[in-house]
Amino acid sequence: MSEISWDLFHEQVSACTMCPLHATVTNKVPGQGDIHSPLMLIGEGPGQREDEEGIAFVGAAGQLLTKMLSAIYLPRDRVYICNVVKCRPPNNRVPTEEEMQACMLHLRMQVALVRPKVIVLLGSTALKATLGPNHYITHERGRWYERKGVWMMPTYHPSALLRDPEKKRDAWADMQSLRDRLMDLSLYPDIYQQTSSPDI
Ligand code: SF4
Repeated sequence: MSEISWDLFHEQVSACTMCPLHATVTNKVPGQGDIHSPLMLIGEGPGQREDEEGIAFVGAAGQLLTKMLSAIYLPRDRVYICNVVKCRPPNNRVPTEEEMQACMLHLRMQVALVRPKVIVLLGSTALKATLGPNHYITHERGRWYERKGVWMMPTYHPSALLRDPEKKRDAWADMQSLRDRLMDLSLYPDIYQQTSSPDI
């Protein structure tokens, strides 16, 4: 992948017709946030609010995600947030394997541009698209994987926490693990050097 740039990325997503999802969207949702962030969060796909506004994670799940980040002292504008597919699947269904594979081209470009040190995979779709179809969120949430120098951790999608609040305990444990990983890697020193005894 040579000569990639954010302009090229946004042009390609905007013009993309590589899967049928483009035909029913109001807006494509490429992702947003700090393009120099050491931390990238990847979800499944846009929902209704995201489709209306063209911004990732702005609905109820997005608000919960913002709270979860705040609990480990991370302002949302200090991370980069996107989804596996950039177009909303009708009725919020799970994207098909073909749709995911088509959109991986864009996701790979995003990862290459942001060059995160840590990636959090929010939910089963992000886990399977990134690490492979034989990975299961219920078994693997909170587990760390290292790929080409990038640390990755799957955890529940915030939508799953809204549907089943009993999952929140595990999700908080995962966020603490994320905070510890960021501290171990000396990332966000301006935040974590000031919080010598973080406890959420
Ligand atoms: S979901 Fe991705 S691959 Fe499919 S049309 Fe939208 S941008 Fe293209």
